[in-house]
Formats: sequence, C-alpha cells, structure tokens
Amino acid sequence: MNTYPRWSLDTIYPGFSSDAFIDNMNLLQKTCEAVVILAEDAAELSEHPEEFTGWLKDVTGHLNMMNDLYENLEAYAYSRFSVNTQLSEAIDGLNRIHTLALGVKAARVAITNALAMHEVQVQRLCAADRQFESYTFVLQEMIDDRQHLMSPELEALAADLQRSGGSAWGRLQESLSSTASILWHRDSGEYKSVIELRSLAFHHDRAVRKRAWRKELAVWKSLEIPLAAALNGVKGFTLSLDERRSYSSPLDHALKQSRITKKTLDALIGVMEGAAPILRTYLKKKAQLLGVEQLAFYDLFAPVGETGSRWTFDEARAFIIRQFTEFHTPMGEFAERAFDLQWIDAQPDEGKVGGAYCIHFPLVKESRVLCNFDGSFSSVSTVAHELGHAYHGYVMKDLPALRRAYPMTLAETASIFAETIIFQGALSDAPAGARLSMIESYLKDATQTLVDILSRFYFEQELFAQRAERELTAEQLCELMKEAQLRTYGDGLDPEQLHTYMWAVKGHYYDPELAFYNYPYAFGQLFGMGLYSTYRRDGDAFCENYVQLLTDTGSASAEEVASAAGFSIETSEFWQGGVDLLTEYVEEFCILADAHMK
Ligand SMILES: [Zn+2]
Repeated sequence: MNTYPRWSLDTIYPGFSSDAFIDNMNLLQKTCEAVVILAEDAAELSEHPEEFTGWLKDVTGHLNMMNDLYENLEAYAYSRFSVNTQLSEAIDGLNRIHTLALGVKAARVAITNALAMHEVQVQRLCAADRQFESYTFVLQEMIDDRQHLMSPELEALAADLQRSGGSAWGRLQESLSSTASILWHRDSGEYKSVIELRSLAFHHDRAVRKRAWRKELAVWKSLEIPLAAALNGVKGFTLSLDERRSYSSPLDHALKQSRITKKTLDALIGVMEGAAPILRTYLKKKAQLLGVEQLAFYDLFAPVGETGSRWTFDEARAFIIRQFTEFHTPMGEFAERAFDLQWIDAQPDEGKVGGAYCIHFPLVKESRVLCNFDGSFSSVSTVAHELGHAYHGYVMKDLPALRRAYPMTLAETASIFAETIIFQGALSDAPAGARLSMIESYLKDATQTLVDILSRFYFEQELFAQRAERELTAEQLCELMKEAQLRTYGDGLDPEQLHTYMWAVKGHYYDPELAFYNYPYAFGQLFGMGLYSTYRRDGDAFCENYVQLLTDTGSASAEEVASAAGFSIETSEFWQGGVDLLTEYVEEFCILADAHMK
C-alpha cells in the first residue's frame, strides 16, 4: 500500500500542554480585555490630536494581536482535531478556544461602537497620517458595521443563543445526514449511508447510479419533517436577526460580507445565466456518450472515456512545482518549500476528516495543507488548489491581521487560479485518449460551480422571500428546488429525474451567519478563470499584477481590488473571459466525443 507524507505541526506549538500554547491562550484573554478597556476609554478621549493618534494606534495594534492569536490557536486545535477527530485533547482544546471566542466577539462589538463614536476623527487620521492610511478601508468597514449592530446587551444575547438556537439547526442537519442509512440489498442485509449512496453517483454502471439516487431520495423523504423544521428554523433565525440589525434583506447582508456591490452580483449572475446554455450543450453531448436520450441527475458525475493515469505523490510534487515555476518562479519555489518543510498531510487515515483544506498560522507565518491523496489527477489538482491558498497566505504573511481578512468572494482566487495552471499543464502533456476524460471532468466541475450553484442561488432567494411570510412544508421546499433546477439545467436534464431534496443535502443552507453561501463559489471560479485568460493574453507582465492583487485582497472592496489590477467586475466583460475559456473546452469536448463515438 502507498503511504503519503504527513505534516509536522511542531513549529506551531509543541502540544496543547506546552508553555507556548498556554501562554498564547492567556495572552489572547488579556488582549480581549485590553480591547474592551480601550473601547471604554473612547468615551473620555479629548479632542487632543496626539491623544487620539495614540489611542488609535493602540486599537489597531491590539486588534491585530487579538486576531493573530485567535487565528493561530484555533488553526492549531482544528488541525490537530482534523487528522484525528477522536483525539480528546484536540476536542477539549477546540472547546476552550471557542469559549474564548465569545470574548473576542464582545471585544469586536465594543471597539466597533467606539470607532463609530469617533468616525470623523478616524477618517481624518486615515487621510492624514501615513501609518493609518492602509487601514482606511477596514476601519471604515467597521464603522459602517455599527449601523448593523444591536445594543451590546442584545449582541451578547444573540452570540449566546447562537449555539442553542441558530447554529443548532445546522448541527441537527449535520447529524441527521451523517448518520442516515438505508437497506441496500435485502439478501445480504447490507445498509448504505447517505454519503456512500452519494458517492455511487460516480459509478460506471447506470443501474447502480439510479438505484443509489432512488435510495437516497427515500432516505431524505423519511427525514423530511425534521429537516424542513431545521431549514425553517435557521432561515427564520437569520431573517429575525438581519431585520434587527437593519439589513434590508439577507442578500444585502451577504453582499456586505462578500464586499461586493449588487451591480457586481447582477453582472456575475447574468454571465452565469449566459453560461448555462453552453454547459447544457456539454450535458447533451455527454448523454450521447452514455447512450441515453437525456441525462438524469444521477448521470451528472458518471465517468466517461478512459480513466486517467495514476500519479505517485512524488510525481504530483514534481509536476506542481514545474507548472507553478513556469507561471511564476517565486510561486514554484514556495511550493517546493511547502513540500520540503512537511506542510502537507496527504495520507488518508481512519479518524481523519475527508476533503481538503488549507489553514494559516499567522504567528509563525506558515500554512498547512490537509488532503486525502489517492493518486488520481483530481487529487493532484486538489493539492495544487490548496497550495494556491497557501501561496495567497504567503504573499500576505507580513501584513497586519486587519488587512489579511479577505472576503469569501476573493478567497478562492488563488486556489482556482492554481488549479487552472495545473489543468492546462496536464492537458498539454496528455495523450489524445486521455484528453476526453480530462476535459469532461473539468466541465463536470464547472457545471457544479456554475449551473448547480445558480440553481442554489435561485432556490435560496425564493426560500427567503417565502419564509419571510410563513413556514414552508417539505413538499413546498421540494417544489421550489424543482423549479430552480428546471430553470438552470433546462433541457440538459430529464425533468422527471432531478434531485428535489438538494435542500436537505447541502449544509450551506443551514448556516445562520452565512446566507447565500453559493454565489461566492461561482465568483471564485469565474474570477480565477478570468484572471487566467488575462494571463494568456498578457503573459509574464501579468504576474506582478497578480501578486499585487492577492496582496490587496484584504484591504479593499472586491471592486477596488480588481480595478487596481485593471479590470472592472461590475460589468460582464471581465466575467466573459472565463466563459470564453469554458466555451473552448465545450467545443473541444464535443469534437472529441464525436470522434470517440465513431
Ligand atoms: Zn478552496
């Protein structure tokens, strides 16, 4: 059996009982208290400019320290937990840090109020004093957030009720969906979990895929009452809090969180609507390849063509370093260091979480990547994706915490871009036989991030509109989902074989603090692809711009970040670059598929 590298966390903390870890925990608590005291001081600040400068310097310094400490500690506990979810000291460590998080939250509320109290002076200092200039956007954002805060007492109550109210619905959905199972074969008495059933969507045999889809729908049907109650609960919770916090709608709140304007969202959605028919062409050609009249929902992930070549971890390493270097030498050198310094945990293991992520440790200016390598091209691509995130962290590592917090829309920029580099590289190396399945697999993912995400956006929009009036039954939720899928997949899928319980599947709908956590994926995908098509046009001249763009992602709105790099995301032109790239793939896919069927 293959063994793949494990990461080392020794440079972060030697352990939960180490002096370094305990000291940082204590320091975090003291820093939160100091921030609250600074907020209290604000009421007595005189108009004296020197006094105010000193105060603001203290505020930014303490907020940076508080955020760095919290991120570092939480990242450490989560990393330890995620490679061994049964590890009691990691569970305990996470719980202790999440208790401290209440203090962090209260400190942020207090200081936001204090900054808002001195809005004019803060603005004046940001404009006049160089040491604060780069904080202009983030401080103004905090001041503007003040309009969206209830009183400190109510905010404290809301934070407290979050666990037993808002986020409890998400935990219910998570525990129901992670433990549900159904009898698969009467003879053998074998049961399959929902997760197993969903992974059968990748099976080569259509009969198996169809059976898994039917069984999965039956499981959701049996759980529809508690799941519908949970969804009504979480959306009601969000609506109530958003109203009290003076957001005009949950979408308005989401736009502020993602630092984009409504105009940008409209441009993005418009381009996604334009991309849907292009991807339907791909779906219809895929139906022909599978020899069916029309694709069913359970055919979306069906494999076509030759299965791709297998990769050893060393091959993946060499390939990623080479492709990154070809794009931009410092990015290649960075990847090489990440591999050499044991920053990657690649070995699948019992008790280790599935999927992949990248996490940053600001106090030591390092990152780590967790993945479950299996030798497929897709897992090579995942390593590249996560190293893209790590590179993003690397170019921002010397910035203060307040300027490193980028919005979810820009969070996937570096990762999608890195993935695109790898895909292009692999495609140009690929023998003719492998091209069909490689392009197909790319289009399969793009269909998810563009067409399926669009259906989720429509669904959530309608859900909020109706939930504001009344609670919805499971049947009504299924009906809404069906409409959303018909509207986006159109004639690309058989209308009788959709997946009307997707509202039960996706945990994203159940997060009370992150409504509409769907369009940021499409944003990331098209933004990364749009950047790649700019790179194809401008060549090496693009690289400096790209690094600057990544560096600025936490210091301005998404529009300003993009505009500094030379594009406007409020118009469809930029987004179209990504769609054009996609169209090229669909065209090539159709040609290859026709040749394959001859
Ligand atoms: Zn990512």
